[in-house]
Formats: sequence, structure tokens, C-alpha cells
Amino acid sequence: MTAKVRCRNMNHGRSNVLIRHCTDCGETLNATVRNSCNEQLHAERRKHRNLFCHDCGKSLTTSTRPK
Ligand SMILES: [Zn+2]
Ligand SMILES: [Zn+2]
Repeated sequence: MTAKVRCRNMNHGRSNVLIRHCTDCGETLNATVRNSCNEQLHAERRKHRNLFCHDCGKSLTTSTRPK
């Protein structure tokens, strides 16, 4: 038995996911999806309380935080 906590994002249970990465855990959901993203999109997604960018899988909570 593994103690791994299952991500609550419901995209994990889907067979046809339209995003590349999970926005809650950053795991790759559909590697065939390719979308471009940039820092501006990252900032917008951060406002939507996404933890990860669903295009590149980058963590939005710890990236480019000004000191
Ligand atoms: Zn997830
Ligand atoms: Zn991104």
C-alpha cells in the first residue's frame, strides 16, 4: 500500500484531458497537448490560485518571487 495522497483535481480521472499538466500537483496529464505560455499567463494563473501552470508544469507559487 502506498501512502501517496491522491490529487483532488478531477482531471486525473478523465480519459480525455485538454491540459498538459495538473494545476494542483503539476503531474503530466496529457503529454500530447502543447500550448505556449509566458510569465504574463503565469501571473494570471497565479491569481486564479492555480498551483502549477497547466502548459509547462512550472510551480506558480514559488517562481519569480521578488525579494
Ligand atoms: Zn494533480
Ligand atoms: Zn507555463
